[in-house]
Amino acid sequence: MNRIALITGVTGQSGAYLSAILLQKGYRVVGTTRQKATASLCRLEELGVSGDIELIDFDLLDLDKVSRTIEKIQPQEIYNFAAQSSVGISFDRPVDACEAGGLGVVRLLESVRRVNSKIRFYQASTSEMFGQAQESPQNETTPFLPRSPYAIAKLFAHLMTVNYRESYGMHASSGILFNNESPLRNREFVTRKITLSLALVKHGKLDTLELGNLNASRDWGFAGDYVFGSWCMLQQSKPDDYVFATGQTHTVRQFVHYAASAIGLNLQFAGEGIAEHAIDAKSGRVVMRVNPKFYRPTDLASLIGDSSKARRVLGWKSKMSFEELVVSMAEADERRVRDGQVRV
Ligand code: GDP
Repeated sequence: MNRIALITGVTGQSGAYLSAILLQKGYRVVGTTRQKATASLCRLEELGVSGDIELIDFDLLDLDKVSRTIEKIQPQEIYNFAAQSSVGISFDRPVDACEAGGLGVVRLLESVRRVNSKIRFYQASTSEMFGQAQESPQNETTPFLPRSPYAIAKLFAHLMTVNYRESYGMHASSGILFNNESPLRNREFVTRKITLSLALVKHGKLDTLELGNLNASRDWGFAGDYVFGSWCMLQQSKPDDYVFATGQTHTVRQFVHYAASAIGLNLQFAGEGIAEHAIDAKSGRVVMRVNPKFYRPTDLASLIGDSSKARRVLGWKSKMSFEELVVSMAEADERRVRDGQVRV
């Protein structure tokens, strides 16, 4: 009998990469989305798996429906990626962030407890929970100091996952993922905004890339590597929490530089603060500038993860380098812009 996995938020970046991994391992994959009729399957299509998963409507706002769905599907494993995923947007829509990212997870955990407490449960936690961290790098014992509605909702969900594990002996685990990116990343994130905008600039479809805080630095890794770690966690006999990270950081400015080079743009940076900009050496045009509109009410200066526990216990490692990741994203966007096919 094939193992059955239920993946919430399957049309997102993590859901798509995990579907591909699980299908290859012979799982029957049931993926959920809020509205099947209008859901964009472009990420699943890019990975060539849209025809192989079963897509169902699922709303984390209704406890009884969540329970009934789990009872019907009878999965052995549940991976929860459903959430409003952008820190920036969570400042504009804090209630939505808490509903899906926070309370929605309790409905899932409670349904698992009621229906079959043997189901293994994975919660997608985030490095944003560390927030204004007092120690660096951050690991599983670093205290949490979240600084956005998104991160606060995620921390609530994380603590609930731990609580269900401790209170009811459930196999509930939480992966604390540092920023994970790919050509399938959604455009609200700075990495994808950079690669897509630079491709549009290069092909004369956009004048300038406008960004906020160029000094922010992040530990950016490849989403496909990270969801493999999620799967490894549920294969352990004991549930536990793990940090997944590369252990290296780069600034937003560095990301711009690498992404531009990958598509043949040679940028020269000049100015400081809100006057900072970058000029394309060949055309002399300003192709990147700072716009304070993209500054956040509160921002995290830097986050860097220590994934030694995942490496030691799970044998996991982040395989794709920063340079490879940026090049893969920049090239994918240039190809999409050239072909007039920017769907993701
Ligand atoms: P996050 O770490 O989950 O918030 O991922 P993001 O990709 O949204 O943001 C990473 C960092 O890039 C944050 O510190 C942002 O302040 C910074 N940043 C600078 N300019 C921009 C921008 O135009 N858009 C976004 N999303 N982030 C930006």
